Amino acid sequence: MMPPDEEKLIPDTHDLDVLIIGGGISGLSTAWWLAQSGLQVQVWEKSTRPGGKIKTHTENGFRTEQAASMIMNFKSEVDQFFSQSGLEQYKAKRLLKAENNRYLINKGTLQPLPMTIARLFFSSMWSTQGKFRLLMEPFVGKAKIANESVTEFITRRFGQEFLEKAMEPFIAGTLASDPDLASAQHVIPRLTALENKFGSITAGIFAHKITGKRTARNPESFSFNEGMEALPQQLASDPKLCFRGNIHVNKIIQHGPHHWEVQAAGPEGEIQCKARHVVISSPAAAAAQLLKPVSQSLSELLENIEYAPLSVVHIGLEQSAVSHPLDSAGFLVPRQEKNAAKMTINGNLWMSSIFSNRAPEHCILLSSYIGGIRQPSAINFSEQESIARVLKDISPLLGIHADPIMARIDKHQKALPLYHAQYPEKIKAINKELCAHPGLHLEANYIGGVSIRDRIVSSKKAASQIIEQLAIRHIPSQIVNINHSFIQTPA
Ligand SMILES: Cc1cc2nc3c(=O)[nH]c(=O)nc-3n(C[C@H](O)[C@H](O)[C@H](O)COP(=O)(O)OP(=O)(O)OC[C@H]3O[C@@H](n4cnc5c(N)ncnc54)[C@H](O)[C@@H]3O)c2cc1C
Repeated sequence: MMPPDEEKLIPDTHDLDVLIIGGGISGLSTAWWLAQSGLQVQVWEKSTRPGGKIKTHTENGFRTEQAASMIMNFKSEVDQFFSQSGLEQYKAKRLLKAENNRYLINKGTLQPLPMTIARLFFSSMWSTQGKFRLLMEPFVGKAKIANESVTEFITRRFGQEFLEKAMEPFIAGTLASDPDLASAQHVIPRLTALENKFGSITAGIFAHKITGKRTARNPESFSFNEGMEALPQQLASDPKLCFRGNIHVNKIIQHGPHHWEVQAAGPEGEIQCKARHVVISSPAAAAAQLLKPVSQSLSELLENIEYAPLSVVHIGLEQSAVSHPLDSAGFLVPRQEKNAAKMTINGNLWMSSIFSNRAPEHCILLSSYIGGIRQPSAINFSEQESIARVLKDISPLLGIHADPIMARIDKHQKALPLYHAQYPEKIKAINKELCAHPGLHLEANYIGGVSIRDRIVSSKKAASQIIEQLAIRHIPSQIVNINHSFIQTPA
């Protein structure tokens, strides 16, 4: 890196304020926040389509999602993003049918989860000891060790039964992760924050209830009528974001602090661009590759980010082929149940109960998740074996008594980053490295949360940092009119 006094010798001949590498939701939402502030931004994406992992497939009336199937929001930044981008009008709200019930496998059968404290105390699903252990939560002291795992945090606060029946199925089923290894601070940050602020999660929830604050307990879940892909498509069509597909970035050169050059292969040959800030929004392995010439140590840290493999198995059936009313969003499988019954699936979403337009009339769409860190080898199952295993698991639970009329599999060798083990130390080391390379930013799902909600919130933070740095360092004509108020809208 160049010493700061040499920096001013480099002429200020930048093509762009910010170049973003990767047109998944992380890159697109960062570009959106930045573009609102009047900055010159471009997004370079190696695929011809925007969205990265987010992709919708529609065939014969069945609409399946390759990765994310919905957004669960309780954050004001996400509200701001949707209302001010005009995307609000495209939202598809969750159907009432799926609103009220939640199911869990207990002793080999599907049982409704008690959704209120009162119901929980009359539920046979929880042992008397487990119920009383939950009541003890406000009296539990704070952690005595740093960097607790999710298992350590949850068993300390709520006991083993809550871990096994509620948290473990959630962590494995929605994050493909393992609570025994996952960092509590990074995977369940809202619960650790409640403990820090109120000394107890129960006390924190009551405090939020009294003040009327929206919390993770009452999120708004939504998708889009045309499927999740409508989100990146709408964003990429905004001319202010300058989304450019079919551009594979192959080199990043640092000429000095806030002086970056990016080279890429485009449809018409090699292209390059000079930018004050570069945001890498690709998966960690691609970022590691690009950063090798910039910082070997940063590149190695990124190479060490672990990912879990996952397959999504979509099954379409005639409604008459299923006895269960499918009056919920679906169910998750606790590890003890999975092991006892030798099941393959981690969870099953009843997509046609959650949103309309997911299956043809009188048909249903069920999407199951197999693999993850629980069973990484499941990614190698053939399509036939994956479908057969899913049907073996779900048929007795849902009363399926006819063959599917549609089956489709989406495989992800590297589905989701795992915030495991030494993750907090890794992130500290990554941030330290980034400080040595002013103008370089990493904004992707391996930092700050994997959900689309967390991506939008995290990208707002990244954008506001960039805007602050640009405003302090440069007053060129094109950014004199930076619209700070937009990004600084209080969350
Ligand atoms: C099976 C599954 C189910 C999920 N379900 C949900 C859900 O229901 N709700 C939810 O909120 N989240 C869900 N998620 C998580 C969420 O979908 C992802 O975390 C998120 O979409 C990742 O976005 P991203 O932009 O960080 O990365 P990506 O989507 O991976 O985008 C990275 C982009 O970078 C591009 N790129 C890479 N290298 C280069 C290069 N050299 N030059 C140019 N471009 C490059 C890639 O082509 C890609 O488009 C799910 C994920 C999976 C896998």
